[in-house]
Amino acid sequence: LDHAGLPPVVRAGLVPTLSGDWVDYANLDHAASTPAFERVAQAVESATRTYSSVHRGTGWLSRVTSAHYEAARDEVARFVGAREDDVVVFTRGTTDSVNLLARALPRNTTVIVFNSEHHATLLPWPKRGTVRLPVPGSARDAEVLLESALRDLPAGTARRPRQALVVLTAASNVTGEFWPVESLTAIARRHGARVLLDAAQSAAHRPIDLAALDVDWVAFSGHKLHAPFGTGVLAGRSDWLDAAAPYLAGGGATAQVTAEATRWATGAARHEAGSPNVLGAVALAAACATIREHRAAIDAHEAALTTALRAGLRAIDGVQTYSLFGEDTVRGPVVTFTVDGLDSQLVAAALSAEHGIGVRAGKFCAHILVDTLLEEGSDEHDSAVRVSAGLASTPEHVARLVAAVTALAADGPGAEYELTQQGWAP
Ligand code: PMP
Repeated sequence: LDHAGLPPVVRAGLVPTLSGDWVDYANLDHAASTPAFERVAQAVESATRTYSSVHRGTGWLSRVTSAHYEAARDEVARFVGAREDDVVVFTRGTTDSVNLLARALPRNTTVIVFNSEHHATLLPWPKRGTVRLPVPGSARDAEVLLESALRDLPAGTARRPRQALVVLTAASNVTGEFWPVESLTAIARRHGARVLLDAAQSAAHRPIDLAALDVDWVAFSGHKLHAPFGTGVLAGRSDWLDAAAPYLAGGGATAQVTAEATRWATGAARHEAGSPNVLGAVALAAACATIREHRAAIDAHEAALTTALRAGLRAIDGVQTYSLFGEDTVRGPVVTFTVDGLDSQLVAAALSAEHGIGVRAGKFCAHILVDTLLEEGSDEHDSAVRVSAGLASTPEHVARLVAAVTALAADGPGAEYELTQQGWAP
């Protein structure tokens, strides 16, 4: 399996310096972005040699490229367990996908969203008509909050029936926890509400099954799924999307244009105006296929890393780890922590400069959630450190991280580091 086909330099734990040398470095920032599979690079390279514009030309290259583009769509549909009449729209990423659905929101729709969401799923909705739920303290709490919000919705009229969209995250980019999507979706369904699932963090780790989950839409990004930036997906029900104005107006989104009127296309084309990112779609599909085919091996690799990471960090004196739903929640290989007496930005900088480990410090585009978690902690921090392992990570990377954090925590409050950005480089 070899980490499901990652390039040799990635498997060897090497990163390039600015002068092009390769150095040993543990990149534990998979929740931000993931390295591309070799098969993704090969698919892009091969498509690069022959591409032409899709769906417009009758020339042979245009037909080949169109076939590749639509085959990519079919692979993504399979990857998300799409129903027969679901639509798969290629976007630039999760943020783009959520904004697309927000633009397609029917007017009489109430959006229900937890304050703990990533800003990409928290912010695109119209202020009026959006109900914000507090950060839940447990899975049960989330269920109760959602149930009561749905029960309190105005009844609606025959002409304007009540309609709601519940926005859920599949896995938290802060705590790594998988949300109780099944039970929350069941509650939404009981109240006739629709569901959008943000799978940005789960897509690389857990299967998505729109049909089995009974979820209406799912959004995710290629760059968190071992494909490059600038690719993403909104997949699901076509009715709202077909009734909405096109996301972008332009060529390819039209059925007929006359001097008097424009009739827009339906289906994915309606929201994919302009020449599409064919290479991105091909790359994303290659990543989806690779993950689908290696799911069991990926699961085993990541489960071992998750256990080692959590157990290792939680055992360190002076280190606090953060959870939304409690320690028993099923989760991916992401841990957010703070070190008593040490600023989180300093911890992240010291891990990079002194130990050759890349993590992230801050609030991870989920400010309300991180503020809430930190308030429940020791109260001294205004940001946290996030470590996120993945396919390119090894047990040695995790051991290095745990040893490094142990050393930093032992240095304790008042420790000062002379940090240089190049500290780890030769
Ligand atoms: N949702 C979650 C849970 C995320 O982690 C991210 C990326 N950090 C996004 C949405 C947004 O993804 P993108 O930046 O690729 O649009």
